[in-house]
Amino acid sequence: MIAEIITVGDELITGHILNSNAAWLSETLLEHGVKTAYQTTVGDDIALMESAFRLALERVDLVLVTGGLGPTDDDMTKKAIVKVFQRNLVYHEEILEDIQQRYAARGIHMPAANQNQALLPQGATFLANRLGSAVGIQIEEKGTTFLALPGVPQEMKSIVTTEFLPWLAETHTGPVRLTRKVRTSGIGESALAERIDPEIPLPDGVKLAYLPHYFGVDLRLMASANDRRLAEDLIEQPQGWLKRKLGPLVYGEDSDTLESVVGALLRERGARLALAESSTAGMIAARLVDIPGSSDYLERGYVTYSDQSKVDLLHVRPTTLKKHGAVSKQCALEMAAGALDQAGVDFALSVTGIAGSASAAGPAADDSDEKPVGLTYIAVAQKQRDGTHLTAYKFLFGPDRRTNRERATAAALNLLRLAL
Ligand code: ATP
Ligand code: MG
Repeated sequence: MIAEIITVGDELITGHILNSNAAWLSETLLEHGVKTAYQTTVGDDIALMESAFRLALERVDLVLVTGGLGPTDDDMTKKAIVKVFQRNLVYHEEILEDIQQRYAARGIHMPAANQNQALLPQGATFLANRLGSAVGIQIEEKGTTFLALPGVPQEMKSIVTTEFLPWLAETHTGPVRLTRKVRTSGIGESALAERIDPEIPLPDGVKLAYLPHYFGVDLRLMASANDRRLAEDLIEQPQGWLKRKLGPLVYGEDSDTLESVVGALLRERGARLALAESSTAGMIAARLVDIPGSSDYLERGYVTYSDQSKVDLLHVRPTTLKKHGAVSKQCALEMAAGALDQAGVDFALSVTGIAGSASAAGPAADDSDEKPVGLTYIAVAQKQRDGTHLTAYKFLFGPDRRTNRERATAAALNLLRLAL
């Protein structure tokens, strides 16, 4: 079974938004044994959409369209479907009721245009959208499956995951490709490869890929087999091997993130955390609170950007700042110790660094010989029975401001994970 993904929208063609839908769909389909043969992007133009749909219906078994399903005039996917499939629109009472309830629950008036969303091409089935008003529209014709989905990524993913994939797994039992990720942090790609490549027991049909990010390297195992069970059996052994071999370098698997893992460890220990962030200025806090339930362990975060705020809020000694500067091991240690004391928590994490100019290409204004851009100190403070334990770490990241702040955030979360 091969697929074509058609993403609709002027914003995609102009480059105003990144086409994450196509990437996600291709990856997700592949995990379910469906290979994407083509990705097509077409602007909001009904004639171009028609020809793209026709071409796809001729050359693949599964056509997935995203975008242009909304109720407004610039949403033309349904009109193009009507033309290509030559079907009338039929009114579905249950869809309208659902949309009406959704508006009522939020206490807002439903615009009349939303009534259009209850109109579907004759013979189409609809896939419920739990997050929005545009349902997925599925049409079977001449052995080809055509599915139109809303463009909003969360809505599209929710429909595919809860409605489409279960249907696909039931109707399409063939060879599958299964992927599993082992996620590492604190080691580079080539150093990892040196440890892994000579020894890893990779069965036939399983491939290993290194996927580096600024926050670490993901090891992706991909198994091809005749069914899901076989693929799972194949992948299990190398996955276990990687986790044993790499030990604490592995922070999780598949959809685990540094913040989800750190959060789980804090909760497990019943520990509470405070943050003292200078160069990251709230990025660590923002990542931690992405995880539902983070109020169980995140007590507070200090954004102490100026020297004075480090003194006022964290009781960093003015002499420390004078002698060592704000970007120093000593300052990082005092920031962490101060946050721990002030917040009365079990763990505190501090970051201070020279993030750098706006972009790597711009002038590096504060780049002096002594303290280069990218220099970052991270400290972990931990309350223990015999007193406060403090550890500081020094990093030299690169020239780019945004990346440095993200890398510092990831490094800090990883150090906290290791301390936990
Ligand atoms: P709506 O009811 O919101 O109008 P829609 O189905 O008509 O939904 P679009 O109007 O095409 O969808 O897109 C809505 C938004 O979803 C876009 O503004 C964009 O932010 C996002 N989006 C659309 N297509 C993609 C894509 N291929 N990749 C990533 N984001 C996308
Ligand atoms: Mg729209």
